[in-house]
Amino acid sequence: MSNSSPKANSTSVTEKPDDGTAHCMDAAPYNRIIFHDLHGPSKTPRYWVGGVENGPWSAENALRKAGVKHGGTCFYCKIKLDKDTLTIDHVEGRTSQSIQNLLLACKPCNAKKGHQPIEAFSPNAGRAWLQALLQQVEERLKKLG
Ligand SMILES: [Zn+2]
Repeated sequence: MSNSSPKANSTSVTEKPDDGTAHCMDAAPYNRIIFHDLHGPSKTPRYWVGGVENGPWSAENALRKAGVKHGGTCFYCKIKLDKDTLTIDHVEGRTSQSIQNLLLACKPCNAKKGHQPIEAFSPNAGRAWLQALLQQVEERLKKLG
């Protein structure tokens, strides 16, 4: 990966880092989130959002901004979300701060899911998310040779 930072205000940024700091979902708005750095002593990952002027943002704020800017749908019921209805689902609970752990959800689905494993709440959503994660892991493994 080069040292040049992607421009935050570009709307055509598709560059993904090759070290697992990208979101696993390869679709908008998830793929508009671009890794920036690991910040501070706690190494908190920060991100740009394509088309959004300011930043960098934490993973959760980046996904929120990306969803508002580029449009998002609930990962579970597929309803269109806006800034008032959009929530961030922590897929595997709040312990993981990684971007892959975050999905857009509407308030009712997020509340209904609660602390259930994703595949218990929705087998289809669970399959889609786990397959995206697996593909990302396989790509990383391939690079190791
Ligand atoms: Zn929903």
